Amino acid sequence: MKINIRIVLVNTSHPGNIGAAARAMKNMGLSELVLVEPATFPHADATARASGADDLLQGAKVCGSLAEAIDGCTLVFGASARLRSLPWPIVEPREMAQQVVTESAQSPVAIVFGREHSGLTNAELEACNALVHIPCNQDFSSLNIAAAVQVLCYEVNLAAGAGTAKAEDDSEIATSDELERFHQHLEETLVEIDFLDPDKPRLLMRRLKRLFNRARLEQTEVNILRGILTATQKFGRK
Ligand code: SAH
Repeated sequence: MKINIRIVLVNTSHPGNIGAAARAMKNMGLSELVLVEPATFPHADATARASGADDLLQGAKVCGSLAEAIDGCTLVFGASARLRSLPWPIVEPREMAQQVVTESAQSPVAIVFGREHSGLTNAELEACNALVHIPCNQDFSSLNIAAAVQVLCYEVNLAAGAGTAKAEDDSEIATSDELERFHQHLEETLVEIDFLDPDKPRLLMRRLKRLFNRARLEQTEVNILRGILTATQKFGRK
């Protein structure tokens, strides 16, 4: 779990959105949910939409003001659906995530989300160091609040070093010498079963090598193929 990264939801009207935001956070390894004057909380809809992230709802801090929610934070981003005409400093989600991850190693940071109907007020934006806007269809730029939480938390998780998960049983890719031994074994077997004529080899081995090189075989796959070749050789020698 990443620490020191607060997700602050201001004045949320639908408890279902609070639950969905909690779920989005937990999926991305974040846990510090702060609610500023939620309209209805706790609520069964929040618990239902959290589906398994109810620990985040239970641990959520409920505050009376944004100032209280971001107390102690050294870096605060306001998530905004609109590109304001005023020249607020604005960053892209990826840049925000880098800054959030770096800063949170030292001190608490916050990403603040506005009301479903009206977003954040100018006074609330003034409490932020910068705005973050998720690039999208500019004729329809307002995401559901939990969807916006999802996108920004995803970027934070990625910036914190989450790579593509490798399946646990993933074998290593075969090395060139393992492939070379497999190619020799294949050639030897093909000669033995009279599929390849060593006096007239044509392009057969080159084509087969190209096929197996393209497949980026794993070590376990090479072992299976060589097992088949050994069985074929035994069968042919009977
Ligand atoms: N009608 C409101 C939109 C509210 S959506 C308005 O025009 O401001 C609720 C919250 O989700 C927003 O306050 C913002 O924090 C977040 N959000 C929605 N779309 C977003 C986007 N494209 N980029 C960043 N945050 C967004």
